[in-house]
Amino acid sequence: MSRPVFATIDQQALRHNLSVARQAAPGSRIWSVVKANAYGHGIARVWQSLSATDGFALLNMEEAILLRDAGWQKPILLLEGFFHAEDLDLIDRYRLTTSVHSSWQIQAIANASLSAPIDIYVKVNSGMNRLGFRPEQLHNVWQKLRALPNVGDMTLMAHFADAENPQGLVEPLQRIEHAAEGLAVPRSLSNSACTLWHPEAHYDWVRPGIILYGASPSGEWQDIAETGLKPVMTLQSEIIGVQQLQPGDGVGYGYRYRASQPQRIGVVACGYADGYPRHAPSGTPVAVDGILTQVVGAVSMDMITVDLTPCPDAGIGSTVELWGNQVKIDQVAKAAGTVGYELMCALAPRVPVKVI
Ligand SMILES: *Cc1c(COP(=O)(O)O)cnc(C)c1O
Repeated sequence: MSRPVFATIDQQALRHNLSVARQAAPGSRIWSVVKANAYGHGIARVWQSLSATDGFALLNMEEAILLRDAGWQKPILLLEGFFHAEDLDLIDRYRLTTSVHSSWQIQAIANASLSAPIDIYVKVNSGMNRLGFRPEQLHNVWQKLRALPNVGDMTLMAHFADAENPQGLVEPLQRIEHAAEGLAVPRSLSNSACTLWHPEAHYDWVRPGIILYGASPSGEWQDIAETGLKPVMTLQSEIIGVQQLQPGDGVGYGYRYRASQPQRIGVVACGYADGYPRHAPSGTPVAVDGILTQVVGAVSMDMITVDLTPCPDAGIGSTVELWGNQVKIDQVAKAAGTVGYELMCALAPRVPVKVI
């Protein structure tokens, strides 16, 4: 028998979450963001459940080719654009849409010999200062690109630094709209947070990622509790050992937790080498046989220890949910000082995955 830790990917939840995104932005087409191997879920495992989408957005050529080879014929968007001029060969061959965010890329497209024009997303820096042309460059860049025979459809793209904040788009959206004045162009501006909370930024194409996987763009589960979004990934294991502590007894490395009264402790086969966050402190929620309890002591490479006081019937072989429907990934992430995005992406290769 293999080690009892495993993850499940719920295909029904994926389909459902895509429909929640559709309802949130009914007038827009959807790029389902499947970068980073579909946020750790496995692009090969999830794409068919999301096939009601209008396109897939990602950033690795390998992932794009995987989708094309699997039979996906609708649009694929390269969110970070291309990294070297030679990449245009594959963009042409696989008919990918690429973002364009730097001047050298305009030159590369001009010089390329393509079988047909490629569609592009012109990325404007909304003030976040990662990728993109400055708003005041937009008209000039647009005209240069529009004049190239190698360029097909053009869309204006931007990304926001503070979309979780109700006021977070006011200023950057104004700057973009000001820069785009007079250009009759489709726009794609919305990540998950904008898709849920900023209808004023929906426009032609939205780009939800995290909500497709059923976690919160703000990191707060409460913020999406009313949306109907369902967790897609469950991380589960079992109790493989039980210890009866006496007052003063310590648990795990550094005795990071000490019992103040007699206490039963369960040892779970899951640690940071499985993707459980090493920084999760005592008190991080976990469910044992469906009963909520908490982590006690340090997370080690292959094990964590949990309090069995609320579940006196639990013992060796009891089911433990590290995250999923009962314990939201956002709650674990928050306890560990991170976000659900990071935990999903960090699911370790050694954890077997079951698709249900
Ligand atoms: C990752 C990404 C998204 C999706 O972000 P979420 O917060 O997961 O919805 C959208 N647009 C761009 C450019 C991205 O890099």
